[in-house]
Amino acid sequence: MSRLNVMQPWLGQEEADALTEVIESGWVAQGPRVAAFELAFAESQQAEHAVATSNCTTALHLALLVAGVERGDDVVVPSFSFIATANAPTYVGARPVFADVDGVTGNLTARTVEQALTERTSAVIAVDQGGVPVNLDAIRAVCDPRGIVVIEDAACGAGSTYRGRPVGAGADIAAWSFHPRKILTTGEGGMLTTSRRDWADRARRLREHAMSVSAAARHASVLAPPEQYDEIGFNYRMTDLQAAVGLVQLRRLPEVVARRRELAAAYTKEITEIYGLRAVADPVWGTCNFQSFWVEVEAGYPLDREELMGALAAADISARRGIMAAHRQPAYAGRDTSPHHDGARLPVTEWLTDSTLILPLFHQMSESEQARVIDVLRDPRRAL
Ligand SMILES: *Cc1c(COP(=O)(O)O)cnc(C)c1O
Repeated sequence: MSRLNVMQPWLGQEEADALTEVIESGWVAQGPRVAAFELAFAESQQAEHAVATSNCTTALHLALLVAGVERGDDVVVPSFSFIATANAPTYVGARPVFADVDGVTGNLTARTVEQALTERTSAVIAVDQGGVPVNLDAIRAVCDPRGIVVIEDAACGAGSTYRGRPVGAGADIAAWSFHPRKILTTGEGGMLTTSRRDWADRARRLREHAMSVSAAARHASVLAPPEQYDEIGFNYRMTDLQAAVGLVQLRRLPEVVARRRELAAAYTKEITEIYGLRAVADPVWGTCNFQSFWVEVEAGYPLDREELMGALAAADISARRGIMAAHRQPAYAGRDTSPHHDGARLPVTEWLTDSTLILPLFHQMSESEQARVIDVLRDPRRAL
């Protein structure tokens, strides 16, 4: 019996050929392929503008900068997320304020956001956690009248939909990840999408040292035009090597999502029959790409979450503890992260992070591999 991984990127000859082509072209840094990937990504996500970055964390940093978030501001974030969501506001000197999440979707809601607002709140980062679309319109209804910018952290969200459109399409600004743990990969990589041309233009400059003329444009002309640096920028560029892989992966996205949804449906069918387990599901306002297929281990199940992880490991199946809670990490210990400066109260976040686990689900997963997982879920004591 072979080891079953939680996630496995789907890469093949097409990606290898695309890489060879870039290498043979002699231009491997940010250039024409990054530009082509930006256009293709914007089109597929129904976004006005797309700016490629080195990863989603840097895209979030740029999003906060262009949205005008400043030192001393408060930014509402879920603690129930990969830690980058909370870290990004600290890069601009803002304070991440943790809001609790909904127990069914694992996402922020209009209510939990409203409870976390302060007089200094200038932005909210709403995550499509594990690919579950966040109810963005409801959060915007709370934030828009107050002039608070809603940034969508769609790191896990490519291929999920919200009210019939791709997630991120209804956001002023969204950030995406192409890490191998996500739905499509460029090794490392990210994207910022936005409806605002001025924000896109500034993000484009900031990711490249705030240079007035891009390196690719300078290279294209024999007599390189002089460049100017109007503010302090960063090197958050993607390479053409990564973008070439991204272009191939993006073409496969519909197929990848369809297969993931098929596997998720098969899991769900079985899990509904198992007392004490609840599986992540599509909310009424959208569809999931099932980037993370998580189950909640409830009181009625014969084992607790840790024991079930052990039973799966005994069957050589690699599961993962559910989404982390940033407020419990040493990095945030003793930090002021609650709206009322009195310690974060996040009961739903703590329950979900303690009681959920992520099951293996990847494009190449076979029916028999999935059956191995289901067998353990049905009769977990037998595996121990
Ligand atoms: C993975 C992830 C990130 C960070 O993405 P990178 O591309 O690794 O920087 C940010 N937010 C969420 C919700 C994530 O899942």
